[in-house]
Parts: sequence; C-alpha cells; structure tokens
Amino acid sequence: MLKYSKFLLALFLVFAYAANAQNEKQFLALNIGILTSPSMHGRGYVADGAEQASIFIQRRFREYKLKPVTADGTFIQGYSFPINTFPGKMALSVDGKALIPGADFLIDASSVSYSGTDIPVKTIDLGRITDKSVWKKTLASIDDRYAYCLENADSFCKEFNMQPGKFASLLPKGCYIIPQKKKLTWTVEQDTIAATIFYVKQDAMPKVIKTLSVDATSLWIPKEKSENIMACVPGSVKDTFIVFTAHYDHLGMMGDSTYFPGASDNASGMAMLLYLASYYAAHPQHYSILFIAFSGEEPGLLGSAFYVAHPVVPLGQMKFLTNIDIMGDATDGVTVVNATEYPIEFSMLNRINEAQHYIPVIKSRGKAANSDHYHFTEAGAPSFFIYSNGGKGYYHDIYDKGAEVTLNHIDGVAKLLIDFVSYFN
Ligand SMILES: [Zn+2]
Repeated sequence: MLKYSKFLLALFLVFAYAANAQNEKQFLALNIGILTSPSMHGRGYVADGAEQASIFIQRRFREYKLKPVTADGTFIQGYSFPINTFPGKMALSVDGKALIPGADFLIDASSVSYSGTDIPVKTIDLGRITDKSVWKKTLASIDDRYAYCLENADSFCKEFNMQPGKFASLLPKGCYIIPQKKKLTWTVEQDTIAATIFYVKQDAMPKVIKTLSVDATSLWIPKEKSENIMACVPGSVKDTFIVFTAHYDHLGMMGDSTYFPGASDNASGMAMLLYLASYYAAHPQHYSILFIAFSGEEPGLLGSAFYVAHPVVPLGQMKFLTNIDIMGDATDGVTVVNATEYPIEFSMLNRINEAQHYIPVIKSRGKAANSDHYHFTEAGAPSFFIYSNGGKGYYHDIYDKGAEVTLNHIDGVAKLLIDFVSYFN
C-alpha cells in the first residue's frame, strides 16, 4: 500500500512537473506571440512599435500588481535619442524585376531617401582596388546620374581594414547596390550617411545589372521619445534588490509593409522577464526583486546606458543583476557573459544545474559589451548576461518569428534562474 501510494505520488510529481513545464512554455509562447504580432510593428521606431510594446509590458506589470520604484509612482523612465527610420515606401527593382524587401534586399540602416526610375547602373569591382589613391579616384569618379553596383565590398573592407559602417559613410550621395552572398542581417542606426545603399542577395539579381528603379523613404528623427519600464516585488529586506533586465525593443519596420518580429531577439527574453515577474509576484523573496525592461538596445544599449547614468534604484542597492537577451532555444544550453568576473555566482549556477539537470550545459564567457548588462558591469554592479544556444540561426531578419522559437529547455532556464535567486536569500 505504502509502496503503491509512493508510486502514485511519484507519478503525480512527474505529471505535475510536466504540467508545470507546459505552463511555463505556454506562458512564454503566448507573450512571445503578442510581442511579435504585426500590431507591435517589430517594436522599433516606426508606427509607435516600441511604444505599443511598452504599453503591453506596463499592463502586465499592473496585472501582477508589481510596485513602482520611480519617484512619480509610474513604471516608466523617459528619455530620448536620435534614430534613422524607414516609415514609407521601400521598393527596389533590378532590370524591371521587383525585389522583396527583407527577403531579397535590405537597405543600409543609415541610408537617406532616394527615388528614381530606370537609372543606368555602372559596376565597380572593389576587389581590383589595391591602393588608396585608386580608391580616392574611384570615389571622385562617382556620378549621381548613375547607380552603382559595388562588387567585393567585403574583401575591400577587409583589405583596407575598414568597418562596413565607415565604408558606407565614405560613399557620396547616390544609389548603390552591394551584392551579398551571406545571409541578410539588418540593424538600426542613429545617424544618416550621404548615400542610399542596398544589400542585395546575389541569387536575387542578375550577374550584371543594367538599370535600377528605386523608391525608398527614410526619416531621421532627432529626438525619439522612449522609455525604460521598471517595477518590483518588495521583499522582507526592501532596499536590496535582485534585478532581472531584458530589452523589449527590436529593429522595427523597413518600409511600410516589412517588419522584423524579433522573436528570439528579444521577445523571448522579455517573455522570460514577464514570467519571472508573474512568478515572484506570487512568491515574494527575502530581497526585493526588480524588473527593468529597456528600450534602445538595438541602436546601441541606449536605455541601459541612460539608466546607469540616471539610476532609479541605485546600483549600490543591486545585490546581483541578470540580463536576459535571446532566450528562445536552449538545446545547447546557455552562455553566461561575465562568468569569469563572478566565479562564485557562476559555480553556483553550475552546482544547481548539476543537481537538477535543468539544461544541457552552462558555458562560461568573459566580459562583453554585447547587451544591456554592460554599463552596469562597468559601473560596478555585479551582473551576468545569460543567452541561450540553439535554434535555427534567424537573427535580425524577417524570419525571426514567434512560430520559429522552439522554447527547448527554456522552462529549465526559468527554474535555474529561480533557484539562483534563492541562493542569495
Ligand atoms: Zn538584437
């Protein structure tokens, strides 16, 4: 009888565990779905995308009855920054064939507007340029009655040790095509250049282009208003905080009909932050738990930089900060940036995982300026940046959709983070 009831109990625990994992994944999938929906416009700076995401996150924080930490009793910290956007037309035809924005081509994110029909195209093979004087002559020869196809731009930049952004900024006003063999990866820029540049997939264009038709609109916004969102679950020790952060912004729209869903980057991390917020709202801890959702990460860690320069909860009151960015598939475990800076905390993560087998592996990495933990680390706040390893490799492209996020082992990451917080109690 005893044995039988033990068996039943074990069976119940297995099912409870499975149901729980299911709940976590359902929660994450639901919130990733909302954050990547067309109404969020890729959470950028076209059609109030980031603003829509902010309203949604604040609504969630209110639902969980989180407490404000700002002086004015709201969940937001406002700030602003310049940003280049593409809110209008985004049409490019090569020899009369219309290309598909996002799939066949990307516009350089610092490009200005350009339009023209049947513009004759000259091809320049940058691979043939071997010294600076030839490069100068080439730049001087550019004539804005033509468009230019610039071949071998990558090898040219490597040869001349030039960042692609620097290269783009040197091109005179006019329209350029740069053929791409590799996957198209977009970005967002704060400044504009003189030129209008398109990165076109090599297999979407003929070997030699004769004419281009272009209608692309950019809008540079000198002072885009944005906000960080923050709230806490007070603990028994109110003035010391365990902090979770994630960025809610993404690349937004490239033209009026193409958006970048940013499911893995970083709807997934934002969904994890919401999950932890809902969990801790029901399970207050010894220390207060603070949640901060940053905007402006994609144009250059702007939201977290602003927070560190204007802290609401002082950095000295942060016991430990964990930033979550890219948390959609942990098939190959997670990587911890700053693991080498905080070896005691890193070994604690590993000890928890060795005991519980939550995820396949926890990899160690040193310092890196690759997400919102960075300015906190530099200002002396102990912090990790944790990202998952796995998935289909969609990144900063139109294919990073909610449906492509597997959530493999992500429930395990949630449990790992929750056990990690208990370690500080
Ligand atoms: Zn990103």
